[in-house]
Amino acid sequence: MGSFKGKSVLVMGGSRGIGAAIVRRFAKEGAAVHFTYAGNTAAAEAIAKETGGKAAKVDSADRKAVTAYVASCGALDILVVNAGVVEFGDPTTLAPEAVERLFAINIHAPYFAAVEAAKTMRDNGRILIIGSINGDMMPFPGLTSYAVSKSAVQGLARGLSRDLGPRGITVNVVQPGPVDTDMNPADGPMKDMMQSGLSIKRHGHVDEVAAMVAFLAGPDAGFITGAMHTIDGGMGA
Ligand code: NDP
Repeated sequence: MGSFKGKSVLVMGGSRGIGAAIVRRFAKEGAAVHFTYAGNTAAAEAIAKETGGKAAKVDSADRKAVTAYVASCGALDILVVNAGVVEFGDPTTLAPEAVERLFAINIHAPYFAAVEAAKTMRDNGRILIIGSINGDMMPFPGLTSYAVSKSAVQGLARGLSRDLGPRGITVNVVQPGPVDTDMNPADGPMKDMMQSGLSIKRHGHVDEVAAMVAFLAGPDAGFITGAMHTIDGGMGA
């Protein structure tokens, strides 16, 4: 496969889980891939070695670090903002600092990374944010801040699609349901609760999400923008 040969790709949060699958997919299809991570250097180095991608430790909670790093990557063809965190808990007792950090990583970083990338992105480029089905619906208590953040990136895609459309740049959100990663292991304590609401009774695979990202980043998706693309095993059905 070589659909992305010659393309310059940045994946924010590419060392593990869904982000690592996205890095693998683009690298396999010939792209030059940069990716960031937060602290798991061993995982980042392993993905870099495997794929030839370039890893950088950049905390998505640090706006200045994010924009400086995006700018340092030069003109991109494709930006994927995947890095995200979750905070479980009663919103009346959850530490405000933890919620602020979640908003910084899940909302502010996608906004500032996308805007920074847009300054130099090539015409017909692609911006993809990994949101969540929880941007549309929230079947469980204890995840209010996460739901807020995943709804917020929907507005980012809608607004930015208007600003960047004249350059042929598309902006989309991919909204997974439960996907088997360190954040949401298929054999974890939430397994039964997660899978009970699905039409397809299993967690999704990271490669299934990467495949949707690859389609939306590819040449056949040039008329798809400002839209949410759900891949959730029927959770929202
Ligand atoms: P993981 O926790 O498995 O991996 C997260 C990745 O993001 C890692 O590479 C991690 O780096 C990086 N990251 C986390 N915080 C930061 C930060 N502050 N700065 C830079 N990089 C960071 O998550 P998933 O793969 O499960 O999730 C990826 C995205 O998909 C998230 O946005 C999540 O909300 C979304 N999602 C996930 C679902 C699921 O069921 N798994 C369902 C719906 C949406 P490091 O290795 O250094 O920690």
